[in-house]
Amino acid sequence: MSKHSDQHISRVIGKYTSNKEGPLLFVTAGIHGNEPSGVEALEEVFKQLEKTKPEIKGTLVGVSGNQKALNKNKRYIDEDLNRVWTKQNIEQEISETHEQKEMWEIIKTLEEFPEENFTKRYFLDCHTTSSPSLPYISVQVVNDNDEWAHKFPTYIIRGFSDIITGDIDHYLSRIGITGFVFEAGQHEDETSVENHEGVIWLALKEACELDLSKIETYPECVNRFAKKNAPEQKTFELIHRHGLEDSDIFEMEPGYENFQKISKGELLAKQNGNEVRSKWDARIFMPLYQSQGNDAFFVIEEVEGK
Ligand SMILES: [Zn+2]
Repeated sequence: MSKHSDQHISRVIGKYTSNKEGPLLFVTAGIHGNEPSGVEALEEVFKQLEKTKPEIKGTLVGVSGNQKALNKNKRYIDEDLNRVWTKQNIEQEISETHEQKEMWEIIKTLEEFPEENFTKRYFLDCHTTSSPSLPYISVQVVNDNDEWAHKFPTYIIRGFSDIITGDIDHYLSRIGITGFVFEAGQHEDETSVENHEGVIWLALKEACELDLSKIETYPECVNRFAKKNAPEQKTFELIHRHGLEDSDIFEMEPGYENFQKISKGELLAKQNGNEVRSKWDARIFMPLYQSQGNDAFFVIEEVEGK
C-alpha cells in the first residue's frame, strides 16, 4: 500500500462469505491512522480468498478504522478514535469531533451484520506499537473473550485493556461480541503485516471453520506469524502501572524492550533525579521512551496454568 496522500482506503475493505450459516468475524484495522499494517493484511487475505474461494461458515468483514487519518497517514484528526467509544458518547449519540463521526460510521457498518443473522459474533481489532515489540493479544476478561484469545499462539495480556476507557474493544464487548485487540509489532515493521495476516487466517479457521490448506499461500501465511515471529503462548496479568504527572521529569534506563524480564532492586528509570527501582521479579511492559505520555511503564506477571 502506498503512503501517498492520494490513497483512498474504503470503510469496508472486504467481505467474504459462502452463504452458509455461521458466525460473523468483524475485523477492524487502522483505528489509529498511523497503523496501516492491519489494512494491508486484510487486503491480502481478501485477495487470497477471492482467488481460491474456499468454503467458510458465516461471514468475514474487514473494516477500516480512522479512514481519514489512514488516508493522511496520521494517528488521528481531532482526537484518538480509540478513546471515543464511551457509554456517554454512545448513549447521548454525540457526533461532534471527526473521530466521533467515524465511530458512528463504524457502528452503522456493524449494524448491517446484526446478531440475529449469525450463530455468534467475533471481533478482532488490529493495532501496532510505536516501539519494537513481540506480537501480543490484549484481552478484556469479560464474556468469553479470554477463552477465545487462548486459541491463538502468542502472548496474551489480561488487565491492560481494562484500565483504558473509550476503546472500541470495550464497546464491542459491551454489546456482546467476543474478541480482543491484537498488537502485531512496530508500526513500520514488515513482520507486523505478517502477524496481522497470520492472526486473521487463524481467526477464520477457529471461527468460520476455514480449511487453511485450501489457501495457496498456506502454510507460510500463518507460519510467518505463528512459527517465525510469535513467541510461545504465555498469559500475563497487569500488576502495576507507574504513572506520571505532567511536571515529572522521567527517563527510562536505556535498552528495555517490551516483555523483558526485570528483577527486584533493578534500576529501571530516573524520575525527578531519583532512582526508580523494581519491586518485582516480573516483566516490564510498554516502557516509555517517547517524550510524551503519562504511563512510564507497566509491570506484568506470568500467570501459571492460565
Ligand atoms: Zn493502535
